[in-house]
Order: sequence, then structure tokens, then C-alpha cells
Amino acid sequence: MVLHYLIVKTQWDTILKFAMPASSLCDAHNNCAEKCFKYISQDDWVTSGKLGSRDAVLVFRTNILNPKTRKTLLETTPEQMKLTNVEATSSQSGVVLEKALSSAICKTNATSGQAYVSVEKSLNRNPVKKLHGSFSSCDTSVSSDGDETMQYNEKKPRVQQKNLNSAIVEIEDNLNKESGYNSIPASQFNTGSNSSEEDQEASSEEDKECGINMPAHQLQITYKFIQTETKLLRKIFNVHGLTEVQGESNFNLLWTGVHMKLDTLRNLALYQRVNHFPRSYELTRKDRLYKNIERMQHLRGMKHFDIVPQSFILPLESRDLLFAHNKHRGPWIVKPAASSRGRGIFIVNSPDQIPQDEQVLVSKYIVDPLCIDGHKCDLRVYVLVTSFDPLIIYLYEEGIVRLATVRYDRNADNLWNPCMHLCNYSINKYHSDYIRSSDAQDEDVGHKWTLSALLRHLKLQGCDTHLLMLNIEDLIIKAVLACAQTIISACRMFVPNANNCFELYGFDILIDNTLKPWLLEVNLSPSMGVDSPLDTKVKACLITDLLTCVGIPAFSPEMRSHYNSKSSQIRSSSCHRQEEQRILRSARLQYTRRGGFVRIFPTDDTMQRYGHFLDSANGIPISTPNVQGQAFQTLITQHNYNQMLHSNLYCLGSRCLKDDNCQENRIRQYERALETDSEIPFLKKQIVEKCEEEGRRLRKQLLKKIGSGSTLTHFQARQTFSLYLESVLRRLTQDPKDSHEKIILKFLNRYGGGVKPPVLFRNTQNISKARSAMVAKLLGDFLELYKRDTEAYVDSFDHFGMIPTSAYSLFLMHAQESDLEAVLSHHTNITGIMPFLYNRCGLSVPPTPPIPSGLHGFLRALPAMVSASGLSRDVSKYDGYFKSCDKNLVDMHDISLRSRSTRDFK
Ligand code: ADP
Repeated sequence: MVLHYLIVKTQWDTILKFAMPASSLCDAHNNCAEKCFKYISQDDWVTSGKLGSRDAVLVFRTNILNPKTRKTLLETTPEQMKLTNVEATSSQSGVVLEKALSSAICKTNATSGQAYVSVEKSLNRNPVKKLHGSFSSCDTSVSSDGDETMQYNEKKPRVQQKNLNSAIVEIEDNLNKESGYNSIPASQFNTGSNSSEEDQEASSEEDKECGINMPAHQLQITYKFIQTETKLLRKIFNVHGLTEVQGESNFNLLWTGVHMKLDTLRNLALYQRVNHFPRSYELTRKDRLYKNIERMQHLRGMKHFDIVPQSFILPLESRDLLFAHNKHRGPWIVKPAASSRGRGIFIVNSPDQIPQDEQVLVSKYIVDPLCIDGHKCDLRVYVLVTSFDPLIIYLYEEGIVRLATVRYDRNADNLWNPCMHLCNYSINKYHSDYIRSSDAQDEDVGHKWTLSALLRHLKLQGCDTHLLMLNIEDLIIKAVLACAQTIISACRMFVPNANNCFELYGFDILIDNTLKPWLLEVNLSPSMGVDSPLDTKVKACLITDLLTCVGIPAFSPEMRSHYNSKSSQIRSSSCHRQEEQRILRSARLQYTRRGGFVRIFPTDDTMQRYGHFLDSANGIPISTPNVQGQAFQTLITQHNYNQMLHSNLYCLGSRCLKDDNCQENRIRQYERALETDSEIPFLKKQIVEKCEEEGRRLRKQLLKKIGSGSTLTHFQARQTFSLYLESVLRRLTQDPKDSHEKIILKFLNRYGGGVKPPVLFRNTQNISKARSAMVAKLLGDFLELYKRDTEAYVDSFDHFGMIPTSAYSLFLMHAQESDLEAVLSHHTNITGIMPFLYNRCGLSVPPTPPIPSGLHGFLRALPAMVSASGLSRDVSKYDGYFKSCDKNLVDMHDISLRSRSTRDFK
């Protein structure tokens, strides 16, 4: 073992020398060490190596998200105080500082031993709880080169990854009793009002203040977002001291909700991390995923890859679908090839009900799903891939179970009902019977459970949860294997450094009533939106564990500038021995930082199970029958990193990890409840009390101004319109009977664009909560897109003839639905334009329609404001329901025209 350690060390030094000139590396290192010294008190926030070393990465934890506990965390310990004194007197030589640094770490570790005992006790009291794996320096930071240490850590059971963090568990418990969590009632789902944005702003200032104390801040570590849901992520980054940047390339971590630009990938430096691999769409596009798996079914045998419901891509495979339908009758579920969140999905009994003019994926509908208390459910599990060659896959120990709101009934008459057949939260949340658990500890309450709660529930009923989880692991590995070949070749072409990319995939899995899991789809950028304490708990733990596991290098700006040059690229065939050592070392360090991630590939038996799907020469999963690895052989020197990693981790004598990562341990980990060290008061939203009278007063003033020639800017008009539609949406979910569903559908159908009806409405007579939820879902989708577009219109300054921004904001703050309606109607009547729907030239803008008087007159006129040739970019094809609705609406419109009068709002 010692010999091995020396080899690792020597090779690593060689790599470093290769990467940068020795003298400059030394300078960068010393500079960093000097700086590190100033914030030595936070050595718990860096791991896998000493600050200033190439292995050092940042640590992310959830307990710091709670403002009350973070104070305790950041307090200086007596040891650290001593060190501060040393700083004043000692020589500034890097070596001395390094010694001081290591001794500080040892002392901290020594103190943490006691705390660890207390955690064990609490675990013993409640054996089904798993503490969320906050990480600390004890595990790996003692020696960046010490293999001994790594081995020791790898053998530790997961709960032992605690020390300093655990010390404050009890303090936190007490504090938590005081800290309340504002749960949001079902009716107040987040529609993003002004007030909540302000509240987020306020808390984000606090988060940033906290971040100032963190090593990441001193090291000027930055992150960049592109098109992504940012609330929880931003909070986590900010409290850990990372700074957001907008620029093109000066980020340490790029988090995007969409695929990566190849140019961005090509220019990544050694220390930069991005959250996607190139060509990930092979997994995440429904049609691509299915085709990749189907190819494996042909190549390797159906029995190995029977993991997805039989599917067809239409219109191309219409005949095959008909053939299959004649053999085994429907129902079939129809999904747009590249959509998500239940958008555009509907279920049919027979293929002739499927429109032929759009590319869709049609899958066999699984009619006998696993139900909880009679409700259909499906799983969202989180899968982290940190490398495709060698393949390293982790499954997060906790996942989310989503239940449909309406009890499941196989009767074909109910196929139209999305709240019975689809488990998407994005649809079911609009159903007025939807129940959210209001306490993070309630994991089996309402329509969202945790995976571990489901497993415990099934186990109590005598189900074989062990087999279920093994089958889920198997399904995940096979899906990744089916898509890996293309991704690996893209990585070789576009990704300069081995650790640049990582990816968190959201796997949607349906379990049938025989407990067989079926893969429905893989989500690129699974939602990090949080909407209940349970969500917050799972996702905050997930993200912090993810960031620690992946490893954001704790490089100082000096080190970064050295590694910016392309010479840092070490993925060349000439140093492939070094590359093997690097891979092995990186995999080991990563494993010690895994937190709640369970490594499912490689494990001790993966070679036995999946070895025959890998090319025997280069270890790459082969999914193309004719080339059998040729493409790779011409591109690269022969290597088999999968084999190398597996034998080093699992086969070489005493270094065997079998016990640690064995099936029993993995399954036990999935079954234990996740418990954070402290609650995260993330969703606290100040509901600003609206003053009705004030709203009316401001509305009067505004109407006067509009009457005397002032006009709303595009931004103001769009803000007003979205607030107005939010009120309509709220009414729709609160009181399904008074909902104006048909008008809204008519408007949305005309508007088209990204908003499509998710399910074919068949039972149009049935006024039900589920149908209202459907319409609400459509309106919610529309609002989301609309608000995103509105961001492009922000008024940068007040100009002549414009209603001052401050006065207008005040109005919006207090306005009720009727006030908003009055302003929109009056403005439309007086100006003859509709800036909330149209921006200016280029479009064929219809004349402003007459706006009927009386309550909801504006809403009734709304569909007529959308010209069929104007905004309708992509009017829905699934308009069976809309046709009948249109007819009603035409009648209604006629009536409203007859009673036309200009309403006086003054
Ligand atoms: P999206 O990406 O739009 O959410 P999914 O493929 O995840 O699409 O499907 C949405 C929902 O539809 C799932 O939550 C699941 O409940 C249901 N579903 C999807 N495919 C099937 C199927 N083949 N059989 C039964 N239910 C399905």
C-alpha cells in the first residue's frame, strides 16, 4: 500500500509539473497559502486537500442555509484564535504556514470526535433516519496525498461522515424549535408576485453577507447561470461565498438549464465545471432515449433491455403502431418528443385518435400502476454521472414520489383525466384537492412522498423493496449504457479536461403492480423548484451533496490564471499512465465526498453484470452493431478505464471496497429517512397585505392620467396583465365553478405558442375540479412564458408621458383583480392599442375589440384581442375540445357585443 501511495504521489507531481512551470506553481501556491491563513477558521469548508493544493475542493452543506445556525457555524474556535496570533508573529513562509494549517485541521478533527458520538446516539434512537451527509475536513483534508486516509474514509459507513457539523446538531435542534417554516396553502402556489421577489431580494442580501466569511469568497470563486431555475441554487451558492458573474468565460461553475454550447465546452480550463455533458440529449430527449434503448434491445436481447414501455415515433412509425395495436390493444399515451412537465400529453384508446401532423412519441400505457391508497404514483430519482469514460454513476439516496390527486380507475371513460393518469406535480398542484405536507418530517403525507417513505411503506406491506431498488439501479445503468457511446465520443471531441463536466439527471420511473420499474423519461436539468418543506429538504441536501461530490476546485485567482492556458490539458495519449492514476485518485477522492450519493457504477459486481455490454478492448459501452468500437480505436490509444478502475477499486487484495458499497448497504441507505441537520426556512414569504381602499384610490388616479393622455409602457402593461391573469388563475383553482374556463381556453388556443393542452378533453360536459386544474395548468404555463418574455421590456428610466415607475409599482402592490381589469380596459379603450399582447410593427395586430361593461368584461373580450394571423404561432392541433368550446364562445361573444358599452371606471 505504501508503495502504491508513493507511486500516486510521484505521478501526481509529474502531472503538476507537466501542467505548469514549477516556479510559478510554487508562487501561486504560496500566495494562496498566505491568503488561506486569514480564513483558516473555515477549514471545514474545503476538503480533499489543503487549501492551495490542486485537489482541494469546496464543501457545501445545508445547515448554513438556516440563518440561525449559520452564526454558530461561523464562530471562531479557540484553536483558530491561537492561529490568528501565530499569523501575527510567524514568518510568512509558505512552509510554516502549511504546518500551522495542518495542525489546525488536526485539532479541529480532534474536537469533532465527541460530536460524532452524539450523532450516533441519535441515530440509534431512530434507526430509520439517515442524517444528511454534510461533509467536513476530517474525511480527506488531513493529507491530500495520503492513501491511508482515503482508505479509512472509504470504509466508513455513511453516518460516520460527520464531525464538526454534528457538534452543533443539538444547538440547532433547540434553535429549530424557534424557527418556523411558512408553509404555503395549496391555494397560494407561487405565481411570483412582486412582494415575494422583494422578499427574496432581502434574504439574498443576508445570504451574500454570510458568504463573505467563506473561503469561496476569498478565493473569488464564481458561478454563472444560463436559463435555469435559480432560487435554491442561488441561495446555496451565495451563502457558500460564490459570486455570480454574467460574463462569457470567467466562471468557476456554469449551471445551465439548457444544453451546452460546444464553443464554451472547448474552452474550459482545468478548474472549471459545467453541469452538462455534450450530447446529453441522447438520454434526455424522449425519442432519442427510446431509440437508443430499442437499439440495445436488438443488439443485446430484449430480456436485458426490457426497461421502457413499447413506443413508436409518429408519424414515421404509424404502421408499426397500428400493427402493435392490432396485436395488443391500447390504451396509448402520446407525448411530444421534446417536452416536459406533462405538456401536450394525452391518452387514447386507439391510434386513429392521434393527429398525424406532429412528431410525437406514442407509448404503451401501463394500465396497472402501483397505487398508494388507490392513487397512481411515479418516482423521480436523481442520478449523477461524473464521468462517462470510465463510467461513474451515483444514485441519490432520496427521491420524490409523486401521486395523482384523483383516485385511479382503469375505466376508459376516465382517460381524459390528467389528475388521475399523470403524476406530474406541475398539473396536480392546480387541483383543489391537492395536499402538500407542511412539515419536512412528514414524508408520507399528501400527494408528494419521499422515496424512502415509499420503500418503508412497501416493506411494511411485505413487498421486496430490496429487489425493487436493485431493479431501479439496473434500469438506470442500462439506460446510461445505451446512450453512452455518443456522449463519450462528444466528450473526446469537445471537452478539454476530464473533470470539466458532470450531470444530474432526473429519472422518471413508473412502478407497475408487480413492482417492475419502467423508465418513462430522463430529464435534463430536473426541477430544483421548491414548493414545500419536504421539497426544500430533499433538494437542498441533493444540491449541496452534489456540489461537494463533484468538487469545485478551491483555486485562488493566481492558480486559476496559471491553469487558464491550454497546456494544462493532460488528456493526451502520451501520458496515459498518468491519466490512469489521475482517474483512480479522482474517483477515490470523489467517493469520500459522496455524501448522500450511492455509487451504483462501478460496484463490486458491475463488471460481472454489465461487462459483456462493454467493448472488451476499450471498455466503452457499445451500442452500434456494425462498428463495434472501431470509431474509438481510430481516435484514441487503447485503454480500458472501466476495467482499470474496477480492478483497482474492487479486486486488488485488501483494498477491496466490497463491504462498503455492497448491495445490503446501498439498499439500507435508500430506505432510511433523510434528515437535515437544521431546517431550511427557505420559503418564508411575506404576504403583503393589500389595502383595498388604497388600490381603489390609486386606480382612480391612474384612470385619470390615462384619460388625459398618459400611456402605459410595454413593461407596465405586461406587468398588469400578468398580475391580472394570476388573479384569474387563483380563482380557477379556488372555485372551479366560477372559472371562465372556456374563455381562457379560447384565448390560449388562439394564442398558441408553447402552451398546449396536455390531454385530449373528451368529456366536455363534465365540469370537474380536474378539468379546472387542466385549464389552470395551461394558464400557468402561459404565464410562465409570458413573464419570462416580459423581462425583456424593463423600463430603464421614466420619460415624458409615462406613468412614473414608482407610482405604478405602488398601484400594482395594492391592486385587486377589478382594479387591474379597470386599468387594462380603460387603457385599451382610450389608446386603441394592446401593449400587453403586441409590441409594435411587423405583426398583424387586430383592432381593439369592444370591451363589454360589467364584471369580467375584459376577460370576455380577451380572445377577440388575439388575431388568428397575429400571435397564433402554433395553434394546437388537439382541438377536439376547443371546437365545442369555440362555438360556445362565439355565442357568448355575440351576446357581449350586443350589450357593448364603454364602461366608466371613474
Ligand atoms: P413529462 O416529461 O411531460 O412529465 P412523462 O413521460 O414523465 O412526461 O410522463 C408524464 C406522466 O405520465 C408520468 O408522471 C406518468 O404518470 C404518466 N405516464 C407516462 N408514460 C406512461 C406510461 N407509458 N404508462 C402509464 N403512465 C405513463
